[in-house]
Amino acid sequence: MTAVVRYFKEVFEGAASLVTGMMITLRYARRKPVTVLYPMERVPMKRFKGPISFVVDDKSKDHLCIACNACIKTCPSRCMSLKADKSAVDGKRVLTDFKVNYMLCSLCSLCIDVCPTDALRHDDPNYDMVSLTQKDLVMDLLDPFRQRKTPLTQIPVVGNAPAAAKPAAAPPATPPAAGAAS
Ligand code: SF4
Ligand code: SF4
Repeated sequence: MTAVVRYFKEVFEGAASLVTGMMITLRYARRKPVTVLYPMERVPMKRFKGPISFVVDDKSKDHLCIACNACIKTCPSRCMSLKADKSAVDGKRVLTDFKVNYMLCSLCSLCIDVCPTDALRHDDPNYDMVSLTQKDLVMDLLDPFRQRKTPLTQIPVVGNAPAAAKPAAAPPATPPAAGAAS
């Protein structure tokens, strides 16, 4: 093959490759995009298992937890804790604190399965949870109810009911490697 023939062969192959690429580009340019402008646009994530959270009862708008400890005893990651006190009104057990350490949660759903009142769920829309501190990932499930001052969070307590096991402590922050560039 002479140099001239080789030259025109390479020019032809380059042009053919360019045309093929442009045709693919034009074909996809007419299709509906499969991407979204996140975080301005969000898509529903079917079957996504978000962090554990409390169900909000449709009628009372309150949580459904009766502080029975079943989820605490079942959790294989030991990442849940609750505190309960005695109601000053009728002596019944009242939930006063409920925390989940999301750093340790394996999203196994066992706590949801054992709950006798269906008080727990995976927070489906919360698929982009991010934090700069470990502390923020220990979630206080009662906090939204306290902020709304729901009836169950306003019950006066005498504070002598036994508390459940505490969650595993957050792991210490990894120290910077010696000699690392600052
Ligand atoms: S989903 Fe599993 S690991 Fe997470 S809190 Fe529930 S029982 Fe524990
Ligand atoms: S199993 Fe359900 S009702 Fe019992 S402590 Fe856990 S969340 Fe509350």
